[in-house]
Amino acid sequence: MSEEEKKPLITELAKSSRSSCRGCRNKINKGDLRAGIPFKFTIESGKEVFSYGYYHIHCVPKSHQDEVLHLLEKNDLVTKNEVFEIRKNIIQSASDTPKLDEAPFLEVSKSSRSSCRLCESKLLKDEYRVAEPSKIELSDGRVISGHKYYHLNCFLDSQKNSKEIFSSIIQESLRRNILTPETIENIKSSFYSTFKEEDSASLVLRIIGETPISIEIIKQKAKEMNVNFNIVEKVLKQRLEKGEIFEPQLNHFQKL
Ligand SMILES: [Zn+2]
Ligand SMILES: [Zn+2]
Repeated sequence: MSEEEKKPLITELAKSSRSSCRGCRNKINKGDLRAGIPFKFTIESGKEVFSYGYYHIHCVPKSHQDEVLHLLEKNDLVTKNEVFEIRKNIIQSASDTPKLDEAPFLEVSKSSRSSCRLCESKLLKDEYRVAEPSKIELSDGRVISGHKYYHLNCFLDSQKNSKEIFSSIIQESLRRNILTPETIENIKSSFYSTFKEEDSASLVLRIIGETPISIEIIKQKAKEMNVNFNIVEKVLKQRLEKGEIFEPQLNHFQKL
């Protein structure tokens, strides 16, 4: 893909429930209207590639709202009336959506009452959880300040740059004096092996880069680089699910 071939913004119905919204960080359910905003990132070789970040249609950042609405008017995913409703809601929510400028941090669950926003299972007492300062809408429509909670693993899995996010969560916990440096060393070392495995798998995929992709090529490369193919496959799958691999690779992969 050349640099000029910029990916277009897309609106579509989510094909699975596996993507998370980059705005509110909640799951995007299968069949939900979502917008994919292309963004550019630089891979290790210094090459710039495009990928998509997904948003609930109501969570699209202000900077892209016009473009998304314009697109919805052109395609037939929703009726003109629905576009009108969406426009109205977006404008309204933009005025009362609080800025989520407070960084998430890691803490120990004080009880077993909270649930993970991503996998929806209980966060057990004494388990580490990620707390994200958020405005939370109550069932009666009132909005209060609170925290959204996540399993550390679930939270990191939902992030593109889990390693950087991990260290920023840790930094924030230190800054807030929530965890001691000793505890943090323990957490870090338990995550280190996971990161290491994924690193080597990512490296295989990066080296393959933009050449037409086939399972055979990946297998061969993994073997050459002495990386377990199962791990590469796992990382590949995760990326496809998160929509982090751009279309040509995805389609080709599916044809195999
Ligand atoms: Zn959202
Ligand atoms: Zn979870």
